[in-house]
Amino acid sequence: MTQSNQKAPYYPKSHLLAASGVAALLSLALLVFPSSEVEAKKTTLNLELENGADRIVQEKDDLRSTPVTENTDSPFAQIEGQSDKDSAGKDAEKEENKALTATNEQKPATPAEPAWKGVTVGKGDTLSTVFAKAGLPAGVVHDVLASSKDAKQFTRLDVGHEVEFLVSHKGELEGLRIKQSDLETISLNKTAKGYVFKRDLVKPDLQTAYAHGRIDSSLFTAGKEAGLSHDLIMAMANIFGYDIDFALDLREGDQFDVIYERKVVNGRQVDTGNILAARFINRGKEYTAVRFTNKTGNTSYYRADGTSMRKAFIRTPVDFARISSRFSMGRLHPILNKIRAHKGVDYAAPIGTPIKATGDGKVVEAGRKGGYGNAVVIQHGSTYQTVYGHMSRFANGIRSGVPVKQGQIIGYVGMTGLATGPHLHYEFHVNGQYIDPLSAKLPMADPLAGPERKRFMAQTQPLMARMEQEKSTLLAMNKQQQQQR
Ligand SMILES: [Zn+2]
Repeated sequence: MTQSNQKAPYYPKSHLLAASGVAALLSLALLVFPSSEVEAKKTTLNLELENGADRIVQEKDDLRSTPVTENTDSPFAQIEGQSDKDSAGKDAEKEENKALTATNEQKPATPAEPAWKGVTVGKGDTLSTVFAKAGLPAGVVHDVLASSKDAKQFTRLDVGHEVEFLVSHKGELEGLRIKQSDLETISLNKTAKGYVFKRDLVKPDLQTAYAHGRIDSSLFTAGKEAGLSHDLIMAMANIFGYDIDFALDLREGDQFDVIYERKVVNGRQVDTGNILAARFINRGKEYTAVRFTNKTGNTSYYRADGTSMRKAFIRTPVDFARISSRFSMGRLHPILNKIRAHKGVDYAAPIGTPIKATGDGKVVEAGRKGGYGNAVVIQHGSTYQTVYGHMSRFANGIRSGVPVKQGQIIGYVGMTGLATGPHLHYEFHVNGQYIDPLSAKLPMADPLAGPERKRFMAQTQPLMARMEQEKSTLLAMNKQQQQQR
């Protein structure tokens, strides 16, 4: 059963180019099976999630104009009240208790009460032509644009959007507004001080939804049929990109389950958010991913058992070592007895403790290197370099020019060069700049431990259970439908 989404997926323009490239990559040379093979479903779960103002999106993606309902919650109610006052009676001016009389004033005293009127932007329209269509003289456009810097935003018109006008009986423009998207409306209201610009952002409700798909031809086709937006399909491919080569590894029959966030305004999905949990079965092997924010505020995906998904770098090149000196821009050097920056991290460990390459790369130096003693320098792509100093010796085969894998032993802890005791001096360079390898900014892989792992499991188990439950419900439903045919 395929239940199509009520809303077309959301495609930010900037992603369109990437989309076509990746779509080509992800499509498979597989036999095309009937679409009835595809199980697709979306349901809404009402998990309480943390909502954040930062999630408010200001993309101008939505070309479908939605009629603006004028209810009392409308940010424009004020203006309507204002104009009521103009038409309903001047005595309201000196009325002390406006709140009491407000209800009476709402009732139209005159039949011709100003109301919002919309002009839909057509091809080739400018603000001037739209104003002309609304019957406003050219001078008003000038007044509007001259009123503030923000007002210039009204010149960015999208075909299909509606520009709404509130015009008084005297033919004067009292208000102007454009609903830029489901989440954003800009308006201009005439006050005693002139036009005042206002932007209203709608904070969408964050809900969660489940989707399940089975791959028959491509990840994109299956994802779309499961009701996933382009962004979510891309996000899923990125999440599992460390484990699955989506260009080569996908097979017909691969499956995925996703629990993701959807942003809802007035019961309608206006956008999607993050993937909270996902499972991908590739050639019979199951991969899981759960989104989690650790205590340092870093958000990334972990496997359902709390282990890290493989990343560009493992953070620690020495297992079970103690950090004896952190990265700093100035400290007293123990041997030189001078203030010197320590542009790396020291790991104290017994002589002979193995040192691992923190990422895939190529050895560009392996030898004596001044104060570093026996050191290895690894180049990772064009951006990153890691440096390992004070080694007692190098691992077999480690020399300039050889490729190394993440986690491969490249040498052993020692105290060669300027070292007071056995330790590894480890450096991380990004585009030639020294970076603190312990900083949260790098694409690191840290497994969860202790209370963090407990918190993670408490969050993960209901998500995985939900996924399991949703899937069996869905499959049972599909089976029932097949039997009825
Ligand atoms: Zn050091």
